[in-house]
Amino acid sequence: MPRPIEALIHTDALAHNLARARRAAPDAKVWAVVKANAYGHGIERAYAGLQGADGFAMLDIAEAERVRALDWRGPILLLEGCFDARDLEICSRLHLWHTIHREEQIDWLAAHKTQHQHQVFLKLNSGMNRLGFSAAAFRAAWLRLSGLTQVDSITLMTHYSDADGARGVQQATAAFEEATRDLPGERSLANSAATLRFAGESASVRGDWVRPGIMVYGSAPDYPAHDIAHWDLQPTMTLQAEIISIQELQAGATVGYGSTFTADRPMRIGVVACGYADGYPRLAPTGTPVLVDGVRARMTGRVSMDMVTVDLSSVPDAKIGSMVTLWGRGPNGSVLPIDEVAHAAGTVGYELMCALAMRVPTRAVSSG
Ligand SMILES: *Cc1c(COP(=O)(O)O)cnc(C)c1O
Repeated sequence: MPRPIEALIHTDALAHNLARARRAAPDAKVWAVVKANAYGHGIERAYAGLQGADGFAMLDIAEAERVRALDWRGPILLLEGCFDARDLEICSRLHLWHTIHREEQIDWLAAHKTQHQHQVFLKLNSGMNRLGFSAAAFRAAWLRLSGLTQVDSITLMTHYSDADGARGVQQATAAFEEATRDLPGERSLANSAATLRFAGESASVRGDWVRPGIMVYGSAPDYPAHDIAHWDLQPTMTLQAEIISIQELQAGATVGYGSTFTADRPMRIGVVACGYADGYPRLAPTGTPVLVDGVRARMTGRVSMDMVTVDLSSVPDAKIGSMVTLWGRGPNGSVLPIDEVAHAAGTVGYELMCALAMRVPTRAVSSG
C-alpha cells in the first residue's frame, strides 16, 4: 500500500473562485494566473476548473506550451515577457502575448522576423520597483513599440505593491493614470487583492483585464484581516494523510526531535504520515490547527521530514487510519483554510500551495 497521504485539487472550487473574480470585476476580462504550475495545483489539473477564463497568464514559456498543449486557443500572456530574443520565435509560433518591461525587449522585437503581429503588454513601474518602465520613460517606450510592424496592439499594465495592505492602490493607480493619460489601448492593473478590495468601485483599478491568482486558489490575499469565508472563496487544494501510530503519553513525556513539546497530563498523540518533505511547513509550531476526522485538533512538537504529531485530546475516537486534513476540505463539510496554517507557520497561503511536494500523489476531483 502506498504511504497514506494525498492531495486533492477541487476543480469545482477553482471554477467557483474564478466566477467570484468575475463578479468582483464586472465587465473586465479575466486572466487566470497559472504561474508556478498553477500555484502548485498542476496546470493540467487546474485547467479543468479554469476553462471559463478569458486567458491564462504565467512566466515560463514551458508552462505556456503546456496550456497550448491542452488545446487552449485563446490568449496566453507571459507576465515577465521574453528572457531572450529567441523566446520571440516561440511567441510567434504559439501566439503568446508578452509583457515588455525593459528597453532590450523592444530591441529584440524590432529585430524579430515574423508573419504574425504580437499583442504586447507594456509595463509601468508604479512604485513596486521590480519590473517596468519609469513614468518618465513610459511614453517613449510606447511610441517606439507603436511604430513597430511586429506589434498589433499595446495594452498598458502595472502591478501593485500594496493592494493587500494598509497602503492600498490609490497612489499607484494615480501614477498609472498620469503616465498613461491620452494613450490608447486596453488597461490591466489588478491582482487578486485589488480585484476583491477595489475593482468593484473603481473602473480605473478594474481596467479591461484583471489578473487574479491567489484568490482563484482559495486563499484570501488580505488574511488575517479577511478570510476566505468573508470573500466567498472555496479551498481548491486539500492535503490529507492518515494517522499511522498512536502514542499514549504520561505527564512529563515529550514528543519528537528536540523534545520541544512536553505533556502536562496523560495525552494521546496521533502520528500523521505527512512531514516537511511533503510540503508541510517545518516551522509550524505547537498549536497549528489540523482536522482529525473533521474535528479541529492541534499540532504538537516539531514537524519532521515524514511525520507530524497531533494532540488527540479533542478527538477521543481517533484511531489508526483516521483521516487528518492538513489544509483544505475535511470530511462532513469541515474546512481548514490554508491561510490559517500558513499564518501559524509565519508564512502565506501562496508559499504552502506552491511548495506541495512532488512525492505527494495528487488528483483532481470535481466535488467533495
Ligand atoms: C502573480 C501575479 C499576479 C497574481 O497575483 P495574486 O496576488 O496571486 O493575485 C498578477 N499579476 C502579475 C504580474 C503577477 O506576477
